[in-house]
Order: sequence, then structure tokens, then C-alpha cells
Amino acid sequence: MIIFKKAAPLSLHLQARKKQSLKVGFVPTMGALHAGHLSLIHAGKADNDLVVCSIFVNPTQFNNHEDFKKYPNTIAPDIEKLYEAGCCVLFLPNEKEIYPAGYQPKHYDLGEIETIWEGHYRPGHFQGVCQVVEKLLDVVAPDNLYMGKKDYQQCMVVQKLVTLMGKENEIALHFVDTKREADGLAMSSRNMRLSAEQKKAAATISKTLAYLKLNYGRLPLNELKEKATVQLEENGFIIDYVGIADSKTLKALQEHKQQDTIALIAASIGGVRLIDNMILN
Ligand code: AMP
Repeated sequence: MIIFKKAAPLSLHLQARKKQSLKVGFVPTMGALHAGHLSLIHAGKADNDLVVCSIFVNPTQFNNHEDFKKYPNTIAPDIEKLYEAGCCVLFLPNEKEIYPAGYQPKHYDLGEIETIWEGHYRPGHFQGVCQVVEKLLDVVAPDNLYMGKKDYQQCMVVQKLVTLMGKENEIALHFVDTKREADGLAMSSRNMRLSAEQKKAAATISKTLAYLKLNYGRLPLNELKEKATVQLEENGFIIDYVGIADSKTLKALQEHKQQDTIALIAASIGGVRLIDNMILN
């Protein structure tokens, strides 16, 4: 595995590979890697000649500075995991490499997807995501981009970004299923900040999503959301949202519909904010 800290030599390296008609898959991450991230690397390996991973904890997507400061940094084991997973190239830039002096953030016209759910609770978050992802896509210019459905709304935002960049015919997006612990807890770098007890309680999120899936169509939406809220609160969560939405637009549902629905949860335990979602039908 080759590690690049600078964008320019990485771009040159990849351009040379593309001249040999090699397909490039790309997995952007913020590090503290777990089996969920590695499942994206494996998906990339299956479809491409080489897989590039980036690790960069992007300050502009954190609306909460404490959350940024506490974001786990485990670079040595991350490098080992990527090597073992067969990742070919790691891009490990510092902040100046992504946002050089004089960098002027532009505004991305993302529409309503920017202001609902995560966007509502994390103002500016998706603008920050677009800033870093646009830069990374310019540097790597992948054929295939791999992202996790755990961050479902982020997948939709990046889809929109790729269209805004006019690259929808150049970069194919692949959204990979959420990797979970045995008890259902969605793997997340933030889980490292949970105590053993909190981690056990955190499985309530996926259990609540499973409850919503099981009972969707049987109970009125409000009652479903109320029961879900109680389950989470009883297990120590402070809730940002429990939502049931159209999975294509993420607009909140006012009434049941037969297809394309998703349940979304964001809630904190012990000061650690977790998100998860589940397709209902
Ligand atoms: P992050 O490092 O949290 O920014 O995540 C990097 C990528 O890994 C994103 O596309 C995430 O959606 C994806 N990812 C994070 N957790 C999981 C998981 N449990 N299963 C699958 N993909 C994940």
C-alpha cells in the first residue's frame, strides 16, 4: 500500500494507472476504521483494479467543535487494517492540503435535503461534507465511489454533489449495507467513545428500528414514533429525531405508504451522538 500525504503526486500516480485502463475505486473516511469501513474497501476491491482510501477528519463538517476534538484518531491500526484488507493507496492529507491558505468555501445548492433530519440538527454539516468530497473527488477522480447506507442522507447529498459537479456519468456511486455488531448496533467510529454499559444500551437504536419495521403498517405513524421514542428514552437516550420518511426524497411521511419508506433515528447517549436507519418496505 502506498501512502500519499500530498494531493498532486497522488493525482499523477492515479492518472498513470488510468492510462493503463485500470479502474479506480474510492472510499473516503475519517479514520478510526472498523469492519463497516472495511466492507466498503472489500466492495471496492471486487469491482476495481485498485482501491484508494482517504483518511481525513474534516473540520468543516463538524458543527460541534467538541465533537471534532473528541473524534477518535487511530492512524497506526487504521493503516494496518487497510493493508490487510488489500487497499492499494491511502491518501492521508493534513488540513492545509485540503483547505490551502486562501481557500474560499463555495455554496452548494443541495435543496431541501440539506435542511431536514441531520441537516436540521447539524447546520452547515452537509456543506462541509460537499467541500471535502468535491476536493477528494477532484484529486482521486475515481470510476467508482463507495459510501455506507448508515449515513443514508449523506449518500443522497453526495449523489446530488456529483450531479452538481457534472460527474454523474464519470463516477458510479455504490451504497453499501450497514455493518452491525452481533446485537444490531451499527458500527461507528463514535462507538469507541461509549462505555461497555452505554454500548449495550446503544443497541436499543437498531432494536427500535426493527420494532418500527415490524409494526409499520399495523399502527398509526404517530403511535409508532411515540413508542419508539419511549423505548429510546427508557434506555437513556436523548433524542434528536425519530422519523419515518420517503426513502427517495427523505420527506417525512404524513401517512403510510406501501413502498420506499425508511425509518431514521439520531440520538445521544453519554454525550455521544449516534445515527442509524432502516428501510421499512
Ligand atoms: P466515516 O469515517 O464515519 O466518515 O465513514 C466513512 C464511510 O464509511 C462512510 O461512507 C460511511 O457511511 C461508511 N460507514 C460508516 N459506518 C459504516 C457501517 N457500520 N457499515 C457500512 N458503512 C459504514
